[in-house]
Amino acid sequence: MIPRLHFAHLPTPIEPMPRLSALLGGPRLLVKRDDQTGLAFGGNKTRKLEFLVAEAQGQGARTLITAGAIQSNHCRQTAAAAARFGFDCTLVLSGEPPAQASANLLLDGLFGAQIVWAGARERRDRVLAETVERAQAEGREPYLVPYGGSSPTGALGYAFAVEELMKQTKPCEGSEPSQGCPDWFVFASSSGGTQAGLVLGARVFGYRGKILGISIDEPQRALQEHVAALASGTSERLGPRIEFTPDEVLVDAGYCAAGYGVLTAAEREAIQLFAKYEGLLLDPVYTGRAAAGMLDLIRKGFFGKDETVLFWHTGGQPALFAEQYQSALLAADL
Ligand SMILES: *Cc1c(COP(=O)(O)O)cnc(C)c1O
Repeated sequence: MIPRLHFAHLPTPIEPMPRLSALLGGPRLLVKRDDQTGLAFGGNKTRKLEFLVAEAQGQGARTLITAGAIQSNHCRQTAAAAARFGFDCTLVLSGEPPAQASANLLLDGLFGAQIVWAGARERRDRVLAETVERAQAEGREPYLVPYGGSSPTGALGYAFAVEELMKQTKPCEGSEPSQGCPDWFVFASSSGGTQAGLVLGARVFGYRGKILGISIDEPQRALQEHVAALASGTSERLGPRIEFTPDEVLVDAGYCAAGYGVLTAAEREAIQLFAKYEGLLLDPVYTGRAAAGMLDLIRKGFFGKDETVLFWHTGGQPALFAEQYQSALLAADL
């Protein structure tokens, strides 16, 4: 038995996006609502944390420590999980304390997390290691939640997410793609745990469609290699090791040139289209970029018109309220 807590709201719904599909002239678009996983505004880290927090409990930890960007969704959800299960929480964030905490950073504070500011991003790993050492020395029994929750333990969450999806789409088994079963998963990929879990889960639970990660901030080859290694490592938790090669991992890194967290016209257009045609909220950092990539691929004819593309929504909407995006989001209205 793999230790796991159950606090996510599962299964998350799969909904059609008929107005957006019609606007684009196909393919058929679906959305898997992992922005509704139920922990502190939801998002993809909830599924990972069910396994990570269980592991921390099993090790007798008392403090969860993790790291991320100022507007990290992973840090917000880890802080919420810590509060929910009675851990202390320390977050190592890159940058300097802003004059006013907004959005995810504001929520980190509400959950009672202690923030350690690491300054320049290059310093973050070292400050994180020092923070863990200090917590150990002080007897605070730390558990290091890996960056993005993307260890084999965390990635298990997304392997089982495929099992969940296969049950939801059971009527599809053996049917033709034209009947609306997802031929593709498209989603934001960054620290790789989501994609590694999906790739592994597809193999284990028999999903035959394609799994395309839109890179948020990593070069294509680096992310393919990382996801393949993580999926292989995670497979050992479920049975005999399965070896995945980087070439089996589909990554499109064509949409991240602007850099992490930079909202360009492409993300803004995606956010506005999803909002105006489906009443759906994307986030400025991850899902906005992944959706912008998906829209561009659709317009280039990358997917077949009669295919079904499932956009796996990974959450992140609190960042819509971060100060730095306020003026940019509504600029150049469609
Ligand atoms: C962390 C995150 C991702 C990326 O997931 P990885 O498992 O790190 O690749 C995507 N979307 C949102 C909203 C996230 O917070």
